[in-house]
Amino acid sequence: MKQTDLLLSDIALVAPQPDWLRIEGVSKRFGTAVVLEQINLAVRRGEFVCLLGPSGCGKTTLLRIIAGLEQQDGGVVVMGGRDIGRLPPGQRDYGIVFQSYALFPNLTVAQNVAYALRLPRKERKERDKRVAQLLQMVELDGKQEHYPAQLSGGQQQRVALARALATSPGLLLLDEPLSALDAKVRDNLRQELKTLQRRLGITAIMVTHDQEEALAIADTIAVMSRGRIEQTGTPEQVYREPATRFVADFVGCANWLPVRQDDAGVVSAGDLSFGFSLPAGARSATAFCRPEDICVEPHWSAGGKMTMAIVERVDFLGSVRRALLSLASSRDVQLTVDVARNEPGYDLLVPGQRVPISVAPHKVRYFVDGAA
Ligand code: ATP
Repeated sequence: MKQTDLLLSDIALVAPQPDWLRIEGVSKRFGTAVVLEQINLAVRRGEFVCLLGPSGCGKTTLLRIIAGLEQQDGGVVVMGGRDIGRLPPGQRDYGIVFQSYALFPNLTVAQNVAYALRLPRKERKERDKRVAQLLQMVELDGKQEHYPAQLSGGQQQRVALARALATSPGLLLLDEPLSALDAKVRDNLRQELKTLQRRLGITAIMVTHDQEEALAIADTIAVMSRGRIEQTGTPEQVYREPATRFVADFVGCANWLPVRQDDAGVVSAGDLSFGFSLPAGARSATAFCRPEDICVEPHWSAGGKMTMAIVERVDFLGSVRRALLSLASSRDVQLTVDVARNEPGYDLLVPGQRVPISVAPHKVRYFVDGAA
C-alpha cells in the first residue's frame, strides 16, 4: 500500500458522517395548543434513535411529521439531503410499524407482507421470493398461510416489521411497537429488533415512553417533555449526566438531596458532606445521584466520609435489594439505594437497621436551585 492510500483511508475512517435525517426548528400546534416547539434533531445513517417521554409530550406527533402523516407548522425535515417536509407520505422513503400491528385481518401473513411490495401480478415469482426472504428474516418462515388472528401478538408484530422492511426503505419508523406485548416477549423482540436493525444498517426512529426500553435499544435518546427535546445523548449520557431535573427524574430512579454550602465552602446534606463546591454566589442546590451510586458500607470508619443511615424499607427487585434509607442525623433526608447480592452491604439491608453509607463525590451531580 502506498503512503497516500493509507492517509486517505485514515481520513475516510475519521471523517464525520453527514446526518441522514435532519429536523430543524419543527413546530406544531393543534388549535391553540402548542404540541411541538422548535424541535431540532440530527440522525446519522444506521443510527437507532429513541424519542422518549411521558404521555402527551409530542413524540408521536413528531414521528408522524417525519412520516408525512401530519404537517408541521414550521421548520424543515431533510432526509438524504432532500427536503421532504412537504412531500406526501408515499413519496417519502420509510417503513412504519405501529403499536396496534395494523395488519389486514382478511389477508394471510404472506399477503400482508406482499401488499407492501406493490409488484404487478406478472412479477409473482420475484414477489414470493422476497416475501419468503422477509419472513425468514423475522423468523416466521412456515407461517405464510396463517391469518393474523392465528398468531400471537409478538408474531403479528414480526409480520408488521417484515412489511415495513419489504421495500428496503431508508428509514424505519416505530411507534411504540413493543408496548402491547407481554414483558418476556417484549424483551426478546426488543433484542431481535436491535440485532436486525444493526444487521441491515437501517436508520431507525422509535417512539417509546418506557425508559428501560430506550436505554436498552437506542444508540441515541432524545428525551422529550411538553413539546421540547430536553436532552439528546447516548443512553449512558442521559442516565449518568442528565442535563435537566426532568431528564434525571424520567430516566431511571433519582435521589434528590437538598444541599447547602457553609462559610468554609463545605457542601452537605445533613451530616453527609460532598467534595464539590457550588458556583460563585450559590449557597444551596439539589444534589442528584442514582441508587447504585450510594455505597452501604460493611463497617463504620471515622475517616471514611461516611454517615449513618437507618433502613426504613426494603424491596426485593430480583437482581438487587432496593432500600429506602433516612439519614440518622436528619430523618427527613431520604435516599433510595440499590445493593446487589454480591456487594458487602446486601445483608445489612433489614428494616430498622443502622448502616454506614458513603457516596463517591464524582458520582454526584447538582442542580443549583432556581435552574432547570
Ligand atoms: P402518547 O405516548 O400518549 O401517545 P405522545 O407523547 O406520543 O403521547 P402525542 O400523541 O404526540 O403525544 O400528542 C401530543 C399532544 O397533542 C397531546 O396533548 C395530544 O392530545 C395532542 N394531539 C395529538 N394529536 C392531535 C390531533 N390530531 N388533534 C388535536 N390534538 C392532538
